[in-house]
Amino acid sequence: MAEIKKEVKQFLHTYHVRIIGFCSVPNNVTPLEIEKLPRAIVFGIPLSKSVLETVTDRPSLIYKHHYKTVNWILDQTAFHLVRFIEEKGEKAIAIPASQTIDWQNQRGHISHKTLAQTAGLGHIGRSGLLVHPTYGARVRYVSILTDLRFEPDVPVKTDCGTCTKCINVCPAHAITEQGVDVHRCYEKLREFSRIRGIGQYICGVCVKVCNGRN
Ligand code: SF4
Ligand code: SF4
Repeated sequence: MAEIKKEVKQFLHTYHVRIIGFCSVPNNVTPLEIEKLPRAIVFGIPLSKSVLETVTDRPSLIYKHHYKTVNWILDQTAFHLVRFIEEKGEKAIAIPASQTIDWQNQRGHISHKTLAQTAGLGHIGRSGLLVHPTYGARVRYVSILTDLRFEPDVPVKTDCGTCTKCINVCPAHAITEQGVDVHRCYEKLREFSRIRGIGQYICGVCVKVCNGRN
């Protein structure tokens, strides 16, 4: 079982992916639309610091492009990893990096954040984002559900501590010590989507300030 994890990691390293976690899909997690396979491989690509510098109190056009590019690379890489697993005779399905299918609750097929946390890649911060110990919230993730057998990784024990950086900068005042008001956030993202050239529900403000070393 250790061997297969090594093989998957080596495969992903060829795509320059270094943030990789393995977990069992938690019992209380039910994917929408797709079969619940028992285990998940989650991997992430950090967003560019220089691009995030262009985010002020709203998203920039270059951030929008970068965000889409990183999601596209994640989806492409997940596609290749699925092929790699299927060639071993096992099942696998890639969950899109960024696809909402339940608009009312702002949900995709499954939460990458929940899987990434379970797979030991970070903790869920006050902003509601996954906070990686090294890269903070500056990472985009994708997940693959599979019946491939491997030993799950262990969740990390980090938390936000006394940090309040995302609370202080959120243009929607949607973040508190207790967490994020997703409806407030969503309304702000809707506003940002109307900025000429943005056209997407993105922000980047709380991503930019969260560096994971709190
Ligand atoms: S900016 Fe600070 S408080 Fe906000 S999620 Fe990141 S670590 Fe937590
Ligand atoms: S995405 Fe933007 S509006 Fe939403 S919580 Fe983060 S900073 Fe606030």
